[in-house]
Amino acid sequence: MTLNVQDIRRDFPILNRKVNGKPLIYFDNAATSQTPQQVIDVIVDYYSNYNANIHRGVHSLSQEATDAYEQARLKIQTHFNAKHSHEIIFTAGTTHGINLVANGFSSLLKKGDEVLVSALEHHSNIVPWQMLCERTGATLKVIPMNQNGELILSEFDSLLNENTKLVFVNHISNALGTINPIEYIIEKAHSAGAAVLVDGAQSCPHLKPDVQQLDVDFYVCSAHKICGPTGVGMLYGKEEWLKKLPPYQGGGEMIAEVSFEKTTYANLPHKFEAGTPNVCGGIAFGAALDYMNTIGFDNIAKYENTLLDYATEQLLQVDGLKIYGTAKEKTSVISFNVANIHPYDIGTILDKMGIAVRTGHHCAQPIMDFYQIPGTIRASFMFYNTKEEIDTFITALKKAVMMLS
Ligand code: PLP
Repeated sequence: MTLNVQDIRRDFPILNRKVNGKPLIYFDNAATSQTPQQVIDVIVDYYSNYNANIHRGVHSLSQEATDAYEQARLKIQTHFNAKHSHEIIFTAGTTHGINLVANGFSSLLKKGDEVLVSALEHHSNIVPWQMLCERTGATLKVIPMNQNGELILSEFDSLLNENTKLVFVNHISNALGTINPIEYIIEKAHSAGAAVLVDGAQSCPHLKPDVQQLDVDFYVCSAHKICGPTGVGMLYGKEEWLKKLPPYQGGGEMIAEVSFEKTTYANLPHKFEAGTPNVCGGIAFGAALDYMNTIGFDNIAKYENTLLDYATEQLLQVDGLKIYGTAKEKTSVISFNVANIHPYDIGTILDKMGIAVRTGHHCAQPIMDFYQIPGTIRASFMFYNTKEEIDTFITALKKAVMMLS
């Protein structure tokens, strides 16, 4: 099946709007994706018809909401092929999931232990581990990258030793689009006795990871990257790890029995789900996966790769333009600068022409430091973007460059 992009675009009401008097061209998908009407309808239906708190209510609304929320958990389990539904923990997003795991490891690490982070990470997958190392005395070591924006695997191999307890790496870099060889990283880390957390914030919209096949210990992602709402995401953890980690937050929902003398915790997944969750968000996350799966991830990846190749080819024809991140395995993210023009200036002019791109360090300052630049312009595509939009973008970019040179 090939994608019928014009039909797909009709699912996204926001794509009809104008920005600064021009039709919106939305190329900031790596920051957040847009929401199809099918998911918006689910959100409206929830608040119109069965908004209620879940799990403890005997009344009908509460039961309907509970059923829909737990159905969403099952959809997520099936999508990522987790062995058990209780291995899926609803979170507020990728950042929350990483902090949950990092907090849990506080009681499992000690001075002398080592944790490895890749040079390609978002701040969300750096700072929680730095905080963990400060708490425990463990040492943070960095897997370096090369000029193409690829991890240097021989360096990774030599960093691994019997003290390595954890490796955390993103599946796809948000700043450069590099697809990391997580299969290799997981296998090597396991043979050294280390657990692996994969930050899937950027892979969930483009690929369909199978957590059992990958044998990954933890995988985290956010619904808003995958056509769902903000403020909700999921942590997959292998049952054995989730049983070992202590709860992250205390409160309602996560307990079995509470007394002033002793509290016991609920079983998985509730042990990690303190307080009233984002019920509507969880249900809409499930609807977003349904939507994406109807289109099909193979179709999505194939189409987005054509956009990536086309945009790369066109961009390279702009005088003075340099692309950062030229990995062989890459997804539809292009980071670039033109001559010495500040990315912010180009981004501002593009916005005046209705084109949304991201400018800055993309929450990945170490990558910008590596290239010795303050930031880049980042265009990131989803399956609802088109070659015609790329043509308009290239013309607008050339205009902006002319104005700023
Ligand atoms: N990790 C990566 C690779 C990301 O791209 C992002 C968001 O852009 C995050 C983590 C943080 O995601 P969230 O802000 O949804 O928690």
